[in-house]
Amino acid sequence: MSRVGVLALQGGFARHLEALAVVGHTAVEVRGPRDLRGLDGLVLPGGESTTQLKLIARAALEPALAQFVGGGKPVLATCAGLILAACSVVGPEQASFGWLDVEVSRNAYGRQVHSFEGRSDKGLHLVFIRAPRILSVGAGVEVVDTFNGEPVWIRQGNVVGCCFHPELSGATEVHRSVFGVGAAQGVEL
Ligand code: GLN
Repeated sequence: MSRVGVLALQGGFARHLEALAVVGHTAVEVRGPRDLRGLDGLVLPGGESTTQLKLIARAALEPALAQFVGGGKPVLATCAGLILAACSVVGPEQASFGWLDVEVSRNAYGRQVHSFEGRSDKGLHLVFIRAPRILSVGAGVEVVDTFNGEPVWIRQGNVVGCCFHPELSGATEVHRSVFGVGAAQGVEL
């Protein structure tokens, strides 16, 4: 049995809770440092990264998040979450936590059409919403999947980053790959 938290301060956390429940985990909303206790994994959802940064600061969550990530449990950072987890953010520049050795550019997939769907180079259904683009990856970063040859699903140690929204595609490959399959515990509200 495993308990997986989803940062629930802003953005698309609800569908991640559902996806985790579908793959058999107890999904828990994380709003403050105490909520991280006893978790076996964590999701940083999409949304608006500038707002999320402010809310994380207001909740005094950054040290606890850093400790959790440093503890080696699996972490999935999607879209705005990837922007927070990156080492370097441009378009415009923004503070970030530096857990993934990548440079990302905000809102860099399609200026006019902010949202679109496509297939990854390995055939995964991808949903992009004002998605960040990964401009470069460090030597320690594994590229798991690409879109038109560009990295969109990456991993460095226990931290996985996605430009797209795996919780919106109706498939659960990414959640299963990061957290494994649990024994159907459901969402804890
Ligand atoms: N464009 C958003 C940002 O810069 C991220 C978009 C998303 O999470 N869907 O924070």
